[in-house]
Amino acid sequence: MRLKNPKIAVIGAGILGSAITYSLAIRGADVLLFDEYPEPGSGVTGRAFGWVNVINGTPTHSSYTLWREAIAEYQHLEAALPEALSGARSGSLVWRATPEETEQLADLHERAGDDVQLLKRSVVSEWEPRLRRAPECAVFSRNDLALDPARLAGSYVAAALAAGASVRFNEKVTSIETANGRVTGIRVSDGIVNADIVVMAAGSAINALAAEIGIHTGVETSPALLLRYNCSLPVVNRILRGPRLEIRQAGDNTLLVAKSYVENGVENGPQAIGLRTLAVMREELDLPDSVTLASAAVGKRPVFADGLPRLGFLPHVDGLYVAVGHPGVILAPLIGRLATEEILDERRSDLIPAPK
Ligand SMILES: Cc1cc2nc3c(=O)[nH]c(=O)nc-3n(C[C@H](O)[C@H](O)[C@H](O)COP(=O)(O)OP(=O)(O)OC[C@H]3O[C@@H](n4cnc5c(N)ncnc54)[C@H](O)[C@@H]3O)c2cc1C
Repeated sequence: MRLKNPKIAVIGAGILGSAITYSLAIRGADVLLFDEYPEPGSGVTGRAFGWVNVINGTPTHSSYTLWREAIAEYQHLEAALPEALSGARSGSLVWRATPEETEQLADLHERAGDDVQLLKRSVVSEWEPRLRRAPECAVFSRNDLALDPARLAGSYVAAALAAGASVRFNEKVTSIETANGRVTGIRVSDGIVNADIVVMAAGSAINALAAEIGIHTGVETSPALLLRYNCSLPVVNRILRGPRLEIRQAGDNTLLVAKSYVENGVENGPQAIGLRTLAVMREELDLPDSVTLASAAVGKRPVFADGLPRLGFLPHVDGLYVAVGHPGVILAPLIGRLATEEILDERRSDLIPAPK
C-alpha cells in the first residue's frame, strides 16, 4: 500500500528522469530531481541524434507497439507543452541499398499502418536539392520528429519547476538508503535526503547505484558516436538516412551524424571517424567548403539484451523504482506518463517490462 502523498526523489536529469519529474510535478506530487552535472541532458541524452520515429523499428518485434504508443504520446506533449517541441522538424527520408529493398521497407510499414509514402527520385531531388545522387526512391515517414534531446530535457525541467518540483544540480547521489526492506532516502554531499520513493533514472550509471544495495539490474552499456559539424547554411530539410549516412540539421545549421563506435585508437577513434564521415558527406551532399568537424562525442546508451527498456518498482526493495533503457528519446514522454500512473495511481501498464 503506497503513501497518499509520497516524497519522491528522482536520480538523473536525462531525458527519462526529466520527463518523469515533469509528469509527476504536473500531478501535484512532491518531487525532487537530482543530477550530478550542472544542467539537464548532460549524460547520453546530450549525445543523442534525436530521431523520434517508427521507421527504424521492425513491425514484428515486440518493441514496435511500444514505439508507436510513444510517437502518439509526443502528440499529447505537443498539446500540453508546445514550447518543448518548438524547434523540432518533422519527417524523414529513408532509403536502402537497392530500390527493391526500399520498396519492401515502405510496404512493410504501410501494412503495419504507418503513415509512410514511397517517393520517386524526382520528388526526393526536389525536396532535398543538395543530395548529389538522389536515390531512385525513398520512404517518407511523415510523423517522425528531429529534435534536440537535451533541450527537451531542459523544457521538461523548467515546466516541472513551474509546477512546484525542486531540482538540485551538481549533486551526485552516492547511495540509496534503505531500512527494513524499503527505501528511506538518498545520500548526497551534505547528508541524507529522506524519500518514500526513489526513481533511478540515472542511465547506465544505475548499475553502480543498484550494486551498492546488492541489486543487479542487467543494464548494459552500448557506445555510439554523435558527430557535429559546423555549417553556415541550410543543407538538408529532413532527417536523411541512406546506406552511407544518417544526417540531420539543427536550427543553428549544425549538421549531426550518428555513427557506430569502433574504438578509441588513432585509426578508428571518434575524431578519425568524424573526418572520414565528412568526406562521405561531401560525396553525398553539396556542402559548403567551410563545413568542419566540431566534435565527435561518445555516448553510452543504456540497453538490455532484448532491446526493451525496463520500468517499474524493483521487487527487492519497497519504494525503489527503475526507469532505464533504449531508445530513451522516443520513449521519454510515454515513460513519464506510465511511471507517474504507476507511482501515484498504482496503475501498471504491461507495455514495458518491469525490472527483476
Ligand atoms: C549517438 C547516439 C544517438 C542516439 N540517437 C537516438 C535517437 O535518435 N533516438 C532515441 O530515442 N535515442 C537515441 N539515443 C539513445 C538515447 O540517447 C538514450 O536512450 C537516452 O538519452 C537515455 O536517457 P536517460 O535519461 O536514461 O540517460 P542519461 O541521459 O544518461 O541521463 C542520466 C542522468 O543521470 C545522471 N546521473 C547518473 N548518475 C548519477 C548520480 N549518481 N547522481 C546524480 N545524477 C546522476 C547523469 O548525469 C545523467 O544526466 C542515441 C544515443 C547515442 C549515443
